[in-house]
Amino acid sequence: MPTLRFDNTFVRDLPADPETRPGVRQVHGALFSHVQPTPVRAPRLIAWSKEVLSMLGMDEALTQDPMFASVFAGNEIFPGMQPYAANYGGHQFGNWAGQLGDGRAINLGELINPAGERWELQLKGAGRTPYSRTADGRAVLRSSVREFLCSEAMHQLGVPTTRALSLVTTGDLVIRDMFYDGNPEPEPGAIVCRVAPSFIRFGNFELPASRDDLPLLEKLIDYTIRRDFPALGDPDKVADKHEQRALWFTDVCERTARMVAHWMRVGFVHGVMNTDNMSILGLTIDYGPYGWVDNYDLDWTPNTTDAQGRRYRFGYQPRIAYWNLSRLATALATVMPATEPLEAALQRFIDVFTEDERRHTAAKLGLRECRDEDMAHVEALRGLLQEAEVDMTIFHRALADVNIDAPSVEPLSEAFYDDAKRERFEPKFVEWLETFAARVREDEPDRSARRTAMLAVNPKYVLRNYLAQQAIDRATEGDYTGVTELLDVMRRPYDEQPGREAYAEKRPDWARQRAGCSMLSCSS
Ligand code: AMP
Ligand code: MG
Repeated sequence: MPTLRFDNTFVRDLPADPETRPGVRQVHGALFSHVQPTPVRAPRLIAWSKEVLSMLGMDEALTQDPMFASVFAGNEIFPGMQPYAANYGGHQFGNWAGQLGDGRAINLGELINPAGERWELQLKGAGRTPYSRTADGRAVLRSSVREFLCSEAMHQLGVPTTRALSLVTTGDLVIRDMFYDGNPEPEPGAIVCRVAPSFIRFGNFELPASRDDLPLLEKLIDYTIRRDFPALGDPDKVADKHEQRALWFTDVCERTARMVAHWMRVGFVHGVMNTDNMSILGLTIDYGPYGWVDNYDLDWTPNTTDAQGRRYRFGYQPRIAYWNLSRLATALATVMPATEPLEAALQRFIDVFTEDERRHTAAKLGLRECRDEDMAHVEALRGLLQEAEVDMTIFHRALADVNIDAPSVEPLSEAFYDDAKRERFEPKFVEWLETFAARVREDEPDRSARRTAMLAVNPKYVLRNYLAQQAIDRATEGDYTGVTELLDVMRRPYDEQPGREAYAEKRPDWARQRAGCSMLSCSS
């Protein structure tokens, strides 16, 4: 292994849990606990992201060294690493859940790459920690494949996200009751190494605030600003700390707005937007029962655990993000003299989201901009897509091929799931397209430049739920080539990839009601 440089500020600058013995406990007055990953039986490297390797300054040859699999399975600690589990709380499904913490994620350290950037490495599924509550600290192969692939797919789509360096199988079995129906089964275990500048979540701030431990909360705020928001200046040197905090929270609101606007643009549904799953950097984090919208449906949620209330359905994500930011604001208000700046920042979320949403919508439709008077037309399209059961991704991609001088529905026909609905709604689509084409012509676009620009924002390839499930089915049989192939396809989501059209097909009928394809539980 080469020399890797670590600079572990989190464990160096923040208060640690003085208790170092294992065992589940409430941890007060500390932001993390030192822990060691629990070794696994037979680590085997299944897949890695060459982009993340190079981002970290690691040579691809390194993946062939057995030590690589060993380190990223938690069996060995590389010099300079100081593993720890973070202490945080969170609101789960709308309710305060108290202390949660990294129950199976173990941070290895903050790697400084050759460019001087800081990247935190984190193993998910590396064994028990003081925050594991009643669970085993492990992760199963199916959920690890999903997290690994989606992290990288999202990045390539241009969506802010944590990254994934590696996917390792452990050689151990993990017992899971996938549908919480009293049928636990052994499944292969796996570990993903996640990578991000920071894994701090809203819940890291909420926990000390809920315990009225304001000095601890202030330490964490100052630390976060210093390390992850350097543009705001050094908290120890600014004239007005409170003003700096307000600017910081505004930045968090803006980043969150941009992230969710991207989710809506590509049809991503997170599935578990609890405040412990919201990154302070506005990165998509914690890929659990997420899903990709096939037929455009604002009411859809992939998460069976949320099937009743559907709190985290596709169309609700912006308002849930706002609700989550409000919980963070409530925590921060405990160390602010006034709440007005926090309220103004929340308003900023609405403004930035609205602005971004419109900009993305205009780009997807090939318009120069969405004017106020265009919005009724946009809404009409959304209604049609939903009612007529139309594939979101295929529709937008194909829209680039509609001739705006002689519009017809022909290029869009592949996007329909139901022939009867297609026939029924065709006249409405024709009518919509005619008004739309007239509107596009007002822009006087260069036809070919417009088409190219549309293809650059409307992906051809997204990580459809059934595609991930097919790769998982093969991986469970010991064939990992499906994972690497899918990873490779998702590297260039906006490009035509001749020979790989099958990966751009709409959800097949068999996948409509199949576990893993349309229904996912939190069991992972
Ligand atoms: P999630 O819904 O995955 O965000 O997890 C919520 C909380 O449960 C976090 O504190 C996790 O660390 C913890 N957790 C989830 N799965 C496990 C597991 N298998 N072992 C220990 N803790 C877990
Ligand atoms: Mg989580």
